[in-house]
Amino acid sequence: MRLLTSKLPQTGTTIFTVMSALAADVGAINLSQGFPDYEIDPHLIELVSQAMKNGHNQYAPMAGLISLREQIGYKTEKLYGAIYNPETEITITAGGTQAIFTAISSIIHPNDEVIIFEPAYDCYAPAIKLMGGVVKSLELAPPDYRIAWDMVRKLISNRTKMIILNSPHNPTATILTKSDVDELSALVKDQDIYILSDEVYEHLVFDGQKHESMARYPELQQRSFIVASFGKLCHATGWKIGYCLAPAHLMQEFRKIHQFVVFSVNTPMQYAIAEYLKNEQVYLGLPAFFQQKRDHFRDGIEQTRFKLLSCHGSYFQSVCYNDITDEKDTDFAIRLAKEFGVATIPTSAFFNKGTDNHILRFCFAKRQETLDKAVDRLIKV
Ligand code: GLN
Repeated sequence: MRLLTSKLPQTGTTIFTVMSALAADVGAINLSQGFPDYEIDPHLIELVSQAMKNGHNQYAPMAGLISLREQIGYKTEKLYGAIYNPETEITITAGGTQAIFTAISSIIHPNDEVIIFEPAYDCYAPAIKLMGGVVKSLELAPPDYRIAWDMVRKLISNRTKMIILNSPHNPTATILTKSDVDELSALVKDQDIYILSDEVYEHLVFDGQKHESMARYPELQQRSFIVASFGKLCHATGWKIGYCLAPAHLMQEFRKIHQFVVFSVNTPMQYAIAEYLKNEQVYLGLPAFFQQKRDHFRDGIEQTRFKLLSCHGSYFQSVCYNDITDEKDTDFAIRLAKEFGVATIPTSAFFNKGTDNHILRFCFAKRQETLDKAVDRLIKV
């Protein structure tokens, strides 16, 4: 047979898989891929088990269980004041990544341009390219990673179809501010530009700051796909459940693809989460829960030679290691895992050009003892 032509010749294995595998291989504490290492709420397990015992083991409706979509509708209205019709504007997905892929594939045609901000989560660009779209990226600079909106304006052309935003941001832990939202609104006004807003860390915003969801602003909400994650909300990333919100005319296109990518998402978890969400404390308590972990981890890092960057949200803390070595971040991350037993994510993986700012990302969604053990090791670096 003739040699296969790769659809993604430049794409390797995602950094999260690479670093988690390395961590397992060398027995390092895994602060690389973002997932909790503590147990989920036993009540949630009970609810899943009850749903299974009650016979909810066959296909869920294609768009998701209606009771779960209704709960999402209440939550979104209560938190952001936006009304989404559960029948037509909310779809349950197999996690954030599937929702992102499906949203991109539902509207991007060949040669459509999509603006992304780098460092960018690694699933955006491949999905755009698979659709024949063109990635227009704007690099943001540490330590603040602020979006220079005049630069964004320069990237806009008559082929610009979409802007992808992510707040709280992975990996930088920055959040969009009201002034970012104002700039964005002015920019897209009277333009045929859609927004994909990756808000999977919506409940992880710290220091009493507010999450600037696109759902808060009708003129933005009307052109947005908003992606959210129950993996983060329930501390159960392995369940691979999330959802997408979008106005009906966009959701209609989304579902045309969703139905043939996954058809529907596992049923018992949907029953369980629908019940679980009735207690709003489960998500209202998340900022305090994670802020305590962030603060504890930052106190620990203060004792090392790593320099902390700020962290306003998400479950990630970035550090600069310029005072330690001038190695490439990928090399240093591998050495840190092998020699010191702590696995991290080198942030050059979030740049198309591999831009290396000598910054590593740690996940602090871990038990206190895990964080303490990691800090003990990092002190030796
Ligand atoms: N979102 C997680 C992270 O940033 C990884 C999820 C994944 O591996 N697909 O670490």
